[in-house]
Amino acid sequence: MYFDAAQITQASWAFSHAEKVVARYYRMSEERLQGLRYDVKTLAYLEEPEINERAFAQLCRYKYEPERGGIKKDSFSFYRVCLQDNRILDAVNRTSVFVRLPPLLLYIATHELVHVIRFDAGEESFEASWDAKELEEQRVSAITREMLSHLFYPGLKLILDCFSDYPQVGKFLN
Ligand SMILES: [Zn+2]
Repeated sequence: MYFDAAQITQASWAFSHAEKVVARYYRMSEERLQGLRYDVKTLAYLEEPEINERAFAQLCRYKYEPERGGIKKDSFSFYRVCLQDNRILDAVNRTSVFVRLPPLLLYIATHELVHVIRFDAGEESFEASWDAKELEEQRVSAITREMLSHLFYPGLKLILDCFSDYPQVGKFLN
């Protein structure tokens, strides 16, 4: 199951909305926000290691080492949010009357952006042990919940009730 064109538009809208939410929470300047190196891909565009059957999304980090004239320039990390369309649509379809796609996408987008910001700021290491990763998931879930609980958005409260303790919103992968 892949997102259709309208659902892909909803996903990109969710990320621009989530950017505003996290920027307000972290008091980020427009410049810092624009400087976050991440992109978002849906299932149809994912490589095999980016696919995760047990999560709504998976965060992958890629390292770039630009080289000019045989000299390596400063390397930098780049994050890719890999949306798992099938898992997300499954959650919506299973409970179609209650769980709606737009607030679920907003929740997932906010959660993943919190990860990106924390990694980008060096607050958390991508190479952390399994235990540390679990702890980071809990922290990110709590922050996401705090950010979104103040927001008025149709259907969002139900998403927070249903999924904010859900351990598999996203995984991060090196
Ligand atoms: Zn996560």
